[in-house]
Amino acid sequence: MLSPAVQAQVALFEERIQYYRSQGLKIFASSSFQSHSIPMLHLISQVDKSIPVVFLNTGFHFPETLVYRDQIAELLGLALLNVKSPVSKLAQRDSDGRFLYATDPDHCCYLNKTLPMEEVLLEYNVWINGVRRDQSSVRKGFALESPGPHNTLRFHPMLDWDSRMIWEYSRFYELPQHPLEALGYFSVGCAPCTRCVTDAQDGRGGRWAGMKKTECGLHTELGG
Ligand code: SF4
Repeated sequence: MLSPAVQAQVALFEERIQYYRSQGLKIFASSSFQSHSIPMLHLISQVDKSIPVVFLNTGFHFPETLVYRDQIAELLGLALLNVKSPVSKLAQRDSDGRFLYATDPDHCCYLNKTLPMEEVLLEYNVWINGVRRDQSSVRKGFALESPGPHNTLRFHPMLDWDSRMIWEYSRFYELPQHPLEALGYFSVGCAPCTRCVTDAQDGRGGRWAGMKKTECGLHTELGG
């Protein structure tokens, strides 16, 4: 049986989705398909499988992530939506021909994440995403619901989950883990910008290692 803390979060999720539906709002979710994304994806599959789940396909993901994404989408029967940047990869190089992730990662994230997400947001009213307070100092200050761009509402159902709750939920439902997690990748983003880390408590420490960058812009430039 799930702990009372997790049961309360499950009930909260169900209640909010029913409320949005009762208001006639168009809902979508986004996910980067990591191990810690799985409880939210499973909840969607239990409550309303018709909610589209957007995967921002930057073209720079690990092959393992793409395989895992497809495995999870099939297992849970998700309405997966692969979304790509409208800007071609040829146009994503600097004057020396280098990809922007090496020279201007903020702009690379803008072109491959923020820009395509803006287009998605124009079509929906509610954006469900899995940010958690314990992931970064920026996310710590987030609210359960907050205004997003283009008159959308951001809903953060995982905000108060911690890694123990995620582990409990995933284990209870026997949900598969991202294959790279066992190799020390506790937060898996694009391959050029992800390193494995030795400290699981500092999961996002492997993202943009050696740079000041800690966020891709989805949860800063697009509200929060
Ligand atoms: S995480 Fe790295 S490769 Fe991916 S969009 Fe951002 S800068 Fe580009």
